[in-house]
Amino acid sequence: MSQELTLEQIQDFKGKYPKQIWYLFLTEMWERFCFYGLRGMLMVFMMTQLTIPEKAANKQYAAIQAFIYAFTFIGGLFADKILGFRKSLFWGGLLMIAGSFIIAANPKEFFFIGTCFTIVGTGFFKPNISTMVGELYRAGDSRRDAGFGLFYSGINIGALLGGWLCVTLGKQYSWNLAFASAGVVMVIGLLTFLFTQKSMGPVGLSPLRNYMPGKRKMYEVAVFIGSLAIMPLLMIMVKKTDYTDYFMYTVGPLTLLYLFYEISKLSISERKKMVAALVFIVFSILFWAIFEQSGGSLSAFALYNLNDSLLGVRADPNAVNNAVNSFFVIIFSVIVGLLWVWMAKKKIEPNSVVKFGLGFLFLAGAYFVFFSTRYFADSTGKTSLEIFTLAYLVITLGELCLSPIGLSLMTKLSPKKLSGVMMGMWFLASAYGQYVAGIFGSEMAEDGNASLLVKLESYTDGYKQLGIYALVAGIALIAIAPLVRKLMQEVK
Ligand code: GLN
Repeated sequence: MSQELTLEQIQDFKGKYPKQIWYLFLTEMWERFCFYGLRGMLMVFMMTQLTIPEKAANKQYAAIQAFIYAFTFIGGLFADKILGFRKSLFWGGLLMIAGSFIIAANPKEFFFIGTCFTIVGTGFFKPNISTMVGELYRAGDSRRDAGFGLFYSGINIGALLGGWLCVTLGKQYSWNLAFASAGVVMVIGLLTFLFTQKSMGPVGLSPLRNYMPGKRKMYEVAVFIGSLAIMPLLMIMVKKTDYTDYFMYTVGPLTLLYLFYEISKLSISERKKMVAALVFIVFSILFWAIFEQSGGSLSAFALYNLNDSLLGVRADPNAVNNAVNSFFVIIFSVIVGLLWVWMAKKKIEPNSVVKFGLGFLFLAGAYFVFFSTRYFADSTGKTSLEIFTLAYLVITLGELCLSPIGLSLMTKLSPKKLSGVMMGMWFLASAYGQYVAGIFGSEMAEDGNASLLVKLESYTDGYKQLGIYALVAGIALIAIAPLVRKLMQEVK
């Protein structure tokens, strides 16, 4: 039945959302459970189980995250050119499952090799599911942003559950169980996708589907084998963060060169849109560099400097740090979505560039709140989990002005044949964000026997600085909005 759906039938849906978005929502929800479950364990596991010192752990964390997001570019590229989005998702999911179970078998021994499977797996999975959401909409369909808003809630339901559960299991029961739980959930995610993918019609099929089957298989198998063969090299690069530096210095310029080559083949109007997309991408690097302190320095801050009382209830500060952002996204994404619709009706809705600028202003506000935690500390250097949580509320408002809108913009601004690559570029910016986040975080960290008071001072000083960077970027973006709007042409 649904197998025969054509693209037109899918895109001609009635109501607010295409039904396929719910399947992608569920699949992504489980994938993000696995991903954020792992992410939430990284710092704590490395510091407490692998006894990596705090500064080095910050860098190691950032290297892992940077590689994860850098591989999304490669995943997007291979999906566009060879596998198609669906096969990429399937392969990525399998690798993520393998990664979690490999670590679960012996966390201390297999931590790095398992992490490499997750890096490559997320690369194949993450950008391509977002691009598939974009394909459910016709160009110019005004319901697209709402679709990405909904999808973003799915991301965060998964992130909330995984972020909370895995680190709690690890800290309180067993790390084997914690890593295994991420793997089990990814199995659920992959099954969800397999059982629902028939309803996607032609969305996400291989770009080589008109090739001879033998030839197509050969390309596909080469991608599968290549992605396994790269693991040992990747492990060396991830473990030694100096190599991560070299990787980051080369991968960005090379991808830009490649992109310029692709852009040179486009019409003038398409080129202008791609330049606008690049402006969003470049600013997002700074956004994520500040935002992504969450898994790094804020994780260490939560481990040492926070009390465990939240509105009268005892709560693990690391679990709060991992989950509360998602909790606020789930609540506020609907409210913010409705606010945009209401503003659009009154013709006062800010355009995407100004929304990005607002994202930075909220981000700045949040980091000033993180800074203010120093004024609520007791004499031992432990401070308020409640003020910390309030900062997350403000950060979330900033994220909602930028992140789902960025995803949607990538699908609006790129021509179809480059949509996977551009989504990969969007996430590659997160890779650089993560990388820079690690540099910021490790500058703030105090190794050895530094007292909690010294740690508090050092981290909060850093947060004030980051608040200032965000403020400047927000003002700059709002100032250049008219210029970027011109490049975007009819895209809002
Ligand atoms: N929190 C979002 C997600 O996991 C965005 C992450 C990012 O782009 N850096 O999808």
